[in-house]
Amino acid sequence: MSSNRKKLFCIECGRPLDKNEIINGLCIECYRKFYSLFDVNDIKVDVCRKCLAFKHRDKWVRVKTYELKDVVQQILQIKASYIVEKHGKVEISFGSINFEKREKDTITAVIEVVGVGKPSPNLPVYEERKNLKLHLHFTACQKCAQITREHFKAIIQLRGEPEKVDKALNTTLQLAESILSKREKDNEAFITKIKKTRGGIDIYFGSNRIARMIAYKLRDDLGAKIVETRKIVSKDRQTSKNVYQQTFSVRLLPFKKGDLLQIDEHVLLVLDDLPSRGKLKVFNVILGKEEKLPIKIFWREDVKNIIKEKIERFMVISVSKKHVTLMNLQNYSSLEIDKDDIPFEVTEGEEIEAIKLKGKLYLLPKIMEKE
Ligand SMILES: [Zn+2]
Ligand SMILES: [Zn+2]
Repeated sequence: MSSNRKKLFCIECGRPLDKNEIINGLCIECYRKFYSLFDVNDIKVDVCRKCLAFKHRDKWVRVKTYELKDVVQQILQIKASYIVEKHGKVEISFGSINFEKREKDTITAVIEVVGVGKPSPNLPVYEERKNLKLHLHFTACQKCAQITREHFKAIIQLRGEPEKVDKALNTTLQLAESILSKREKDNEAFITKIKKTRGGIDIYFGSNRIARMIAYKLRDDLGAKIVETRKIVSKDRQTSKNVYQQTFSVRLLPFKKGDLLQIDEHVLLVLDDLPSRGKLKVFNVILGKEEKLPIKIFWREDVKNIIKEKIERFMVISVSKKHVTLMNLQNYSSLEIDKDDIPFEVTEGEEIEAIKLKGKLYLLPKIMEKE
């Protein structure tokens, strides 16, 4: 009797089946509808955006490639047992890799997974294809993060009068922009923070080398004084090397536009807040002309800032071909001086400042508010 064999039917489609044709009560066609040769598990993997190392079981796996596809291949190999679950005797291979869905810090690799095999020994071999999604999450590996932290430690501190500090910040940012724009590939070449402090402004740099370049350019251009200090802020746990914080304190010239300085026999009216290209523009009161003088003169210890009380105010009463008549606005006395002794134009009715040196009166030119 064949009744024993006739009792078997596919529970889905009702087809009569031989004993060795049945799997979980189903025929092969129905089985394939409900079960797979394999399943894929989409996973998220941390990848270092700098060196492309990837994380596996809490450890960073180093790679020797700059191609993301090669990295994906390596991830597939090392994580194969996690991402593909086989049912039966199945051979797995990976096909095409496509990148899609680019979010802020995640790229998804879509990988075609091909399985060839059979769910039970008596069944025929067949093929199945599925897409696996590998979400590559970009971050910084331990090593690269450490390097970034180390280079965080360079600071330029701008110190001086608030107005001058603001102007020096502009100069610094311009310098930084021109230097950094040439180094777009340098990952450490950036300003990480700008902070106002009680004494001035602190600018944090990602690169000690670039902070140094800028600090010394400020010294040469603005005639600032640089004081370098360095302190240990931490210890690298991996290399047990000290991590330093390098500070470049940039002290601006302690004089501003409108200050009257006495250096040796000279009296100089400062015409600019900040020097430019290493020189400061002044009006030499005694010589009666504009000059650009090297900054180092102004850092001399014997430079005296002439106090404002010594400056007298006058009104120009009349201007003739040879003479100018002035009236002192404190005591209303008038005096006449040679027009040749005034190195700039004066007009009737204007107020003018002057200073008396060794009995002689020197008029001071007006300083424009904005250049
Ligand atoms: Zn069936
Ligand atoms: Zn890295």
